[in-house]
Amino acid sequence: MIRRNGAKTWKNIHVTTKLELEDLIDVDNSNAQGHSVSNYEILNQTSDDINSLIKEAKLNNKHIRAIGAAWALSKVQTTENWLINTKLLNKCIEVESDCFHVDYPTDKKPLLVIAQCGVSVAELNVYLELPKSANQIARSLKTTGIGAGQTIVGAVSGNTHGAAVNFGAVPDFVVAIQLCNGTDSPIWIERSDYHVMNQVFVDRVNSKLIQNSDIFNAVLVGFGAFGVITAFAIETEPLYQLTFPKIEEVSQNKLGSLLGSPDFYSGLHHLEFVFNPYEDDSFYLIAGTKVKYETGHPIPAPLWIITNKLGYAPGDWTTKILLKLPFVSGKFKSNVQFKEYLKNAVLSNVRGTSGQLYTATITYLEGYNETAFAVSIDDAITTISILKQITRAMKLPLVIQARVVKPGKATFGFTNLLPKAVVFEFGIVNDSTYPEFEQMLIDQLRNANVKYTLHWSKNSLVSRERLVEMYGQTNVDIWKNSRNTLFNNDTELMRVFNNIHLEEAELDM
Ligand SMILES: Cc1cc2nc3c(=O)[nH]c(=O)nc-3n(C[C@H](O)[C@H](O)[C@H](O)COP(=O)(O)OP(=O)(O)OC[C@H]3O[C@@H](n4cnc5c(N)ncnc54)[C@H](O)[C@@H]3O)c2cc1C
Repeated sequence: MIRRNGAKTWKNIHVTTKLELEDLIDVDNSNAQGHSVSNYEILNQTSDDINSLIKEAKLNNKHIRAIGAAWALSKVQTTENWLINTKLLNKCIEVESDCFHVDYPTDKKPLLVIAQCGVSVAELNVYLELPKSANQIARSLKTTGIGAGQTIVGAVSGNTHGAAVNFGAVPDFVVAIQLCNGTDSPIWIERSDYHVMNQVFVDRVNSKLIQNSDIFNAVLVGFGAFGVITAFAIETEPLYQLTFPKIEEVSQNKLGSLLGSPDFYSGLHHLEFVFNPYEDDSFYLIAGTKVKYETGHPIPAPLWIITNKLGYAPGDWTTKILLKLPFVSGKFKSNVQFKEYLKNAVLSNVRGTSGQLYTATITYLEGYNETAFAVSIDDAITTISILKQITRAMKLPLVIQARVVKPGKATFGFTNLLPKAVVFEFGIVNDSTYPEFEQMLIDQLRNANVKYTLHWSKNSLVSRERLVEMYGQTNVDIWKNSRNTLFNNDTELMRVFNNIHLEEAELDM
C-alpha cells in the first residue's frame, strides 16, 4: 500500500542532512493480505506500487529517492521531492524448489533467501538464526557492518563493509536483484556467469530477466540511482559463531609484519586494528575466527553505540559538546575517547553469532559525523603515518579504527583494492574541519602515491575528479552505460532518480 504523508522536514540519523520534502511516502505490504497471501503476491504488490509511483513522478517531473534506515551520512539519500520509506517492506522469503535455475548448485539452495529491500540487518539475523519451520536450517550472514540497523538494500547500495578479511563486503553475498525503474516491468538482474533463478520464478514475479555481469555489478553499489531495488536474493552460510580472544597490543613493526604476511590472515574471519593517533607505537588487534555453532556460551553484551532505556545514546549531545570544548587539547580528548572506546566498543574475549556480535544501533547523534576511506593493505603503514601527522597538525580528537576486507566485484565497490583493502574510519565533529580534514588527507595520500577510495556513505564530497581518480574512466563508463541501458536511454525517467550526489560526481547523465 502507498501512504502519502505530505510535506515534511526530514533528517537522517546523524542529522548531517536536513531535507524539506514535498512528500514522504511509505510503501508497505498491507495490500497483499488475506488468509493465504502468497509470497509472489507480496513481491508483485510492492513492485506494482513502486512502479506506479515512478511513472507518476516522471509525469509530474519529480525526483524520487528510496530511503532505508537513513544511516548514511553523506548526500547519497538526498532529494527535495519524494522520499520513499522502504522500511516496511521487510519480508524474507524461501525459494520454492521449482524456481531454481538448473545450473544453481544443490548445496547452496537451502542457504538462499529472498530479502525484501527494507528488511533490516537485525531482522534478517533473527530470521536466519532462528528458523521457524523444520524445512529451514539456521543460517548466518556471510558478513555485516558493525551495526544492525541498516536495511539490506541501503547497506549494499553504499557498499557497507565489516572486516571479512577472506570474504568481502555486504554487496558480495547478493546474487540477484529485483529493480523497479518505471520501465514496462520490474527487472530481475543476475550475473551472466552465475544463474540463480529460472524463468518460472521470473514469470511469477512478473519481471524481465537480464543476465549481464556489467549491469549487475554496476547496480549493486548504485545509491538509489538505478531506481528502487525491491528485493535481493542473498547467499548465506550455515549458522556459525565467531570467537574473539582478548585484544592484543602490538607495535607498528609487529603490525606491519602481520599485515604483510598472508599466513596471518589465512585462518581469520574478522581482522581489525584500532589506535589513538597521539600514541606513537601502540595498536590493538581485534582478530576473530569462525567456529562451529555451540549452545551454552553466554550471550555477548551489546557494544555501544546503543540507546539507553530513555532512548539516548552516549553520544547524543555529549559527543559534540565534549569534542568541541575549548582550551582542551585534541590529544587529551583523544586519550579520554580512546580509553572509553577500548572499554566499550571492541570485540574482546567474546564468542557469539554474527547477529549477537554486530549489534551497534543508534537513534540519534546530532553534531557528529563519520568519515572513512580505503587503501590497499600494502599502503596501510604509510597511511597510518599520514593520518597521525594530519590529526596532530589539525589537533583533532580522533579514535581510528581500521578494518581489512577482501576485494569484491561491485563496479563502485570502495573496498576493491588489491590484494586486500584496509578501511580507516573515525568519528569527527560535523563542522568545517570535516571537509578540510578529508581534503588534506587526500592531498597527502596523492603525494605519497597511495591509491584511495572514499566510503560512499561517509564522505564530504565525491566530485567527478575524485570519482575518476578512485575508479578509473572505464568503470565510470560501465556504470553510466549500465544505467542508460536499464532506463532504455529514457533521459526523463533517469532524471527522476538524479540528486545532488550524482550531479556533483557527474553521474547524472
Ligand atoms: C551506527 C552506524 C554504524 C555504521 N556502521 C557501518 C559499518 O560498520 N560499515 C560500513 O561500511 N558502514 C557503516 N555505517 C554506514 C551505513 O552502513 C551505510 O550508510 C548504509 O548505506 C546505511 O544503510 P541504510 O539502510 O540506512 O540506507 P540509507 O542511508 O537509508 O540509504 C543509503 C543509500 O541506499 C539507497 N537505498 C536505500 N534503499 C534503497 C532501495 N530500496 N532501492 C534503491 N536504493 C536504496 C539510498 O537512496 C541511499 O543512496 C554505519 C552507520 C551508522 C549510523
